[in-house]
Amino acid sequence: MRAADTRIPAAVSKLAERDAGSGPPGALLDVIVVGAGFAGVYALYKFRRLGFSVQAFEAGGDVGGTWYWNRYPGCRCDIESIYYSYQFDDDLQQEWEWTERYASQPEILSYIRHVADRFDLRRDIQFNTRVTAATFQEATDKTPSHWTVITNDGQTHKARFCVMASGVLSTPNLPDIPGRDTFAGTTYHTGQWPHEEVDFTDLKVAVIGTGSSGIQCIPLIAAQARHVSVFQRTPNYAVPASNRPLDPDELDDVKSRYGEIRAASKKGFTALPFKPAGRSALAVSEQQREDVYERWWGDHGLAFQGAFADLLFDAQANRTASDFVRRKIRKLVDDEKVAELLTPDFPLGCKRMCVDTDYYPTYNRGNVSLVDISRDPIDGIVPEGIRVGGRVHAVDAIVFATGYDAITGALLAMDLRGRNGLTLREKWTDGPRVYLGLATHGFPNLFMVNGPGSPSVLINMVTGVEQHVDWIADCLAHMRERGLDAIEAEAQDEDAWAVHNDEVAQRSIRGDCASWYTGANIPGKPGGFLPYVGGFPAYVERCEQVVENGYAGFALS
Ligand code: NAP
Repeated sequence: MRAADTRIPAAVSKLAERDAGSGPPGALLDVIVVGAGFAGVYALYKFRRLGFSVQAFEAGGDVGGTWYWNRYPGCRCDIESIYYSYQFDDDLQQEWEWTERYASQPEILSYIRHVADRFDLRRDIQFNTRVTAATFQEATDKTPSHWTVITNDGQTHKARFCVMASGVLSTPNLPDIPGRDTFAGTTYHTGQWPHEEVDFTDLKVAVIGTGSSGIQCIPLIAAQARHVSVFQRTPNYAVPASNRPLDPDELDDVKSRYGEIRAASKKGFTALPFKPAGRSALAVSEQQREDVYERWWGDHGLAFQGAFADLLFDAQANRTASDFVRRKIRKLVDDEKVAELLTPDFPLGCKRMCVDTDYYPTYNRGNVSLVDISRDPIDGIVPEGIRVGGRVHAVDAIVFATGYDAITGALLAMDLRGRNGLTLREKWTDGPRVYLGLATHGFPNLFMVNGPGSPSVLINMVTGVEQHVDWIADCLAHMRERGLDAIEAEAQDEDAWAVHNDEVAQRSIRGDCASWYTGANIPGKPGGFLPYVGGFPAYVERCEQVVENGYAGFALS
């Protein structure tokens, strides 16, 4: 840490304690928050409560982020609703009634809208406004260090701090397939689904992509459309979601123990209150293993990959679980050739595992066909449909379930310029370097929520978001108390964090295959494992140690 010797005059430091709103237009704000999903909504609440003046900008027409944009049929969370919710306010926790074990997109959107209304947050969110650029301004005799932020309506805003809550799965990947714009029918991307109902009745529909989004929407589209052709490049592992209505008594019981449940979640590797399985998959008999897998398959959803302690760390242990799911696929799909095509050959959990409702049996329907594009990729899109190996599959609509430019996409989509005009794109040419996933050297007073190098997508994201925002808010309060002007991650500490992250990733089988975790889904994206794989408790401990040691690894001035 650099010594705090250049305190800014109190008259210039506007980090005043007040019940802050956004203040007059053009004023120097304390904080600009980019995005109003789960992260941005909580950041706005938290910073306002601490008396900072704050304004949020949101590209969508309402709060919700992912849950605002992803309206495709079957969209629901793969983390149980009682956990995938905020814990910062006990009254909120007690009053909200989740109706299903895994909440659907409309229910999650209603929840976050309720949060925005309950805490009167909308007055400081400018909707339908995208941040296009932000530039760091060095302190002068008259002004403290700050950011000028440009929005797509041509307005310029100023704030001492920028908090990027722009989402990790928010920049859709629309593959550049030749002839894409010549298609005569309608195209959709699961991450930019229309607000009005889409009716596929009597239509022939193509779905490209078999990740979580494709696996959720294919059964529902198949139930409505005349025919569905699924274009699959890589099969994925899907385990049953085992969704069901939540019994009111069950919910009451959870509410009566919420404190204890949340405390247990903070100790959980994935910020969920599950005790880690203690045993190796290789330490039990074949029959015992089979029984465990059968039980977890039947009721545990995504947690299936934690049925034994070493499934994500030991290739041989992993093979036992992968083989179990492969056998399930063969049982569930009638046509042997189709079953073979649907069977993954990489380790389970290496790409993000999917949870499904009726995915595999959907291929037993007469109106669904699987088009294998693993060897012969799509050669082009023509007005009538999709051409593969010279043959045109005629369709009326194409659904791109082709995923996202994950974790770094939304950050790099903005023209962010730090000290000496350095752009974030230049800084991250060889891949992102972010200290604790929170801040990057050369970009003082800019924080990321769920940035590269934070546990983000590998844990319960709502709990992760609250921890990140709390850490940033404490840091801002610390700076206010001491009249500090700027905070900047030290280059050597962010490098050391990246090395540590790589080492931890190497210990997990997750780094072993091409996935969006490593940026492999986006042509030209630099490699490297993007989220932190070391688990939530280790990460939180590290963040706390940094604070205890006077913000070690950050320069404060
Ligand atoms: P994804 O996992 O990245 O899957 C994208 C799919 O599109 C893959 O099958 C990919 O094939 C295919 N694809 C991409 N480009 C292609 C091309 N040019 N030609 C043919 N196929 C192409 O994206 P996603 O399904 O939207 O899921 C992303 C993440 O969002 C999930 O992993 C999860 O974290 C989150 N999510 C969660 C839920 C939930 O909570 N249940 C639901 C949806 C999404 P390859 O594998 O060969 O690249």
